[in-house]
Amino acid sequence: MITTRHHLRLGQAITLLCAITLASERALAAPEPSPSAEALLRAYPDHLSRIEGNDLVWRDGTRMPISDGRSTKDFDTLLDHADIDDMLLMPYRPGPPSGAPALNEDPGRVRYEPFFSKMYGDCRKGGVTAHLREIKWLPQWGGGTLKITTVNGVADRLEAVGRDLAKLPESFKKYLVPAAGTFNCRLIAGTERRSMHAYAAAIDINTGFTNYWLWAKAGGGTIPYVNRIPFEIVKIFEDHGFVWGGKWYHYDTMHFEYRPELLGRRGD
Ligand SMILES: [Zn+2]
Repeated sequence: MITTRHHLRLGQAITLLCAITLASERALAAPEPSPSAEALLRAYPDHLSRIEGNDLVWRDGTRMPISDGRSTKDFDTLLDHADIDDMLLMPYRPGPPSGAPALNEDPGRVRYEPFFSKMYGDCRKGGVTAHLREIKWLPQWGGGTLKITTVNGVADRLEAVGRDLAKLPESFKKYLVPAAGTFNCRLIAGTERRSMHAYAAAIDINTGFTNYWLWAKAGGGTIPYVNRIPFEIVKIFEDHGFVWGGKWYHYDTMHFEYRPELLGRRGD
């Protein structure tokens, strides 16, 4: 080695040294952090342990790839072939809406299904039913009962939502009662995808005052945005970790689902 170094001229030595330094820096450099994986780690600490390279590591040792390596996906591909990295590409904005969502702005509709199936269970195999609990929905307004998952404390959280909603004036009752459903083990109409209803982590409020993009879609043009749900209701759900389908371009104003990662929340 020493002999070799003696034969190198100074310029060559410096060039070689720089090349070695660059290579070692590259080798030591951590992979780009994934905001999506980091938000999930914060939101679901009971389930998730850490990020290792391109793996999201669960507490039971299960590993899921964060990126599938595909950097450009069109909108339909994002929905049909999402990876973990894609789930938070579109930021969800809590608080009063600032107008109609932009074209295809659907924060939360991009879901990596193996992630939610592992967390809440696979409803086709009875994995979700095992975690259901019955709760009373707005009992003072005769809201009846709902079955919702206990995973991630969703049942407790929805009960807390109900307690806060019950403090609103009675004029709000018509939007909330009767609720249109929670658990439903079926695919989203016209797709091969599952909604958060398949995991019993979502609720539809009364359909009587709600709007759904498919009802308004006419002739293949842009979808006119329509909403009749007061923000007071949305705010209470957001405060407890639920996002609202009324903030989607493909809106579904009756729909709320538990997605703390989209609200920047820490699981507790
Ligand atoms: Zn729904």
